[in-house]
Amino acid sequence: MPRRHLVVSAVVAAVLAMAGCSGADPAIGGAAAMGVATGDGAARQPGPTAAPPGDAVGTSTTTTPADLAEVSTGIAVVAAGGADLAETAGGEPIVRAAEGLPLPVVGRAGEWLEIVTSCNSPAWVQASQVELTPQAAGGGGPGPGFDLSAAVVMLDPGHGDRDWGAIGPEGLSEKVLNLDIAARVRDLMQRSNTVDWTTGTVTSGGDIPAFGAVWMTRPPEGPNEGQFEAGLAYRAELANAAGADAMVSIHNNTVPKVASDIPGTEVFYSVAAPGSDRLAALLYEEVVASLSAFEADWMGGELLGARARINPDTGEDYYGLLRRAQMPAAIVEGLYLSEPQEEALLGTDAVKQAYAEGVYRAVVRFLTTDDVGSGLRDPEPYPEVRTPTGTSACVVPAQP
Ligand SMILES: [Zn+2]
Repeated sequence: MPRRHLVVSAVVAAVLAMAGCSGADPAIGGAAAMGVATGDGAARQPGPTAAPPGDAVGTSTTTTPADLAEVSTGIAVVAAGGADLAETAGGEPIVRAAEGLPLPVVGRAGEWLEIVTSCNSPAWVQASQVELTPQAAGGGGPGPGFDLSAAVVMLDPGHGDRDWGAIGPEGLSEKVLNLDIAARVRDLMQRSNTVDWTTGTVTSGGDIPAFGAVWMTRPPEGPNEGQFEAGLAYRAELANAAGADAMVSIHNNTVPKVASDIPGTEVFYSVAAPGSDRLAALLYEEVVASLSAFEADWMGGELLGARARINPDTGEDYYGLLRRAQMPAAIVEGLYLSEPQEEALLGTDAVKQAYAEGVYRAVVRFLTTDDVGSGLRDPEPYPEVRTPTGTSACVVPAQP
C-alpha cells in the first residue's frame, strides 16, 4: 500500500442534518479504536501476554519478530503503558497515546512506523511500543469456496465520545447503542455457529467457523471503554490497513419521514468499492428480517432499501467512510432512535441481538455465497452541503 498523506483542516466541516446520522465527512467523524480478536474468541489485548500478532489472522503461517521488522502495512495497537506519537520519525513526542488504541500503519522507516492518528493526522510511532499485526492476505474473493476461518472483518460502531450521534427521547444514544450492537456482532463472528436459515436463529457451535480476525474501530476494551473520538479517514484507514474483506458500519437513524409497514432500515453502500452493493443488499435483507420479528408502529424514510448517495458533480460517494474504503463496505441504519417505540425496542437485549444476528448472517452470506440480497437501489445524486462551525478539538486518547 502506498504511503498516504492526509491533510487535516483545523476547521471542522460540519454536516447539516440532511445527511442523516452518518455524517458525510467531518474532520472528526466519530470515535474509533480497535481491537482484534483471535478466532477462538479470546479478546486480543496489547501487552506482553498477547498472542503473537500472526495468530490474529487465524492462518497456519507464523509471523516471527524478524518478519515484523519488515512490516510497513497493518494495524498497530498501542501496547501496555502507552506509546509516544511524533510528527516525524524520531521526532519529539506530541502525545502519549493510550494503550489499546489501534493505529493504521501506512509506512515505515527503520524502527518507526508511519501511522494515522484517531484525529486523522499523520504521525509516527516506535515499533517497540505497539503490537503490530501485518496486513492480512484475506480469504480470497467473496463467493462459494471462501474460507471464513481466514476472513478479516472490520466492524465500525458509529460516533463516539463527544460525537453522540442520534439521541432518543429517553436518552439512549447512538454512540453507546452502536458499540453494544457491534460488540455482539463481533462475539458471533468469533465463534462457530449454526444458522437456521428459515428462522434466522443463530446458535453457538456448528459448521460455520469462527472468522479469522474481527476488528472493531471502537472496541469496548479500548481507551475509555471504546468511547473516544475518531475521524472517518482514520476509520477507513484502519480497515484498509487491516486488509479487511468487508467493513460494516453500525448506526441507527433519526428524523423519519413516513409511517412504514416494516422496519425502516436503510443501508448505504460504497459505489467506489466493488461488491459493496451486494453486501448492502444482503445486510438490508437480513437486518429487516431480524427486526420484523418485533412489533412497533414503524417509521421510515421515503426510500427503504440498500442505497448509495453520490456527489452529483463528481459521482463520488457522499459518505467519507465509504469513499475511502478499499474493500466492500456499507453503513447500516437499523431503526429510528428518535421514535419512542423504536428507542424502547433498541434498549432491549432481544432487539440488539437480533440486529447483530442480521448483520452476522449477511456477512456470512456475502463472503461464502453469490446471493444478491434484496432492496438494491441505484445511486442517488446527493448535494454536498457543509458549513464550517468552529475549531476542531479532537484529541488522541492519552495514556492515563
Ligand atoms: Zn449514526
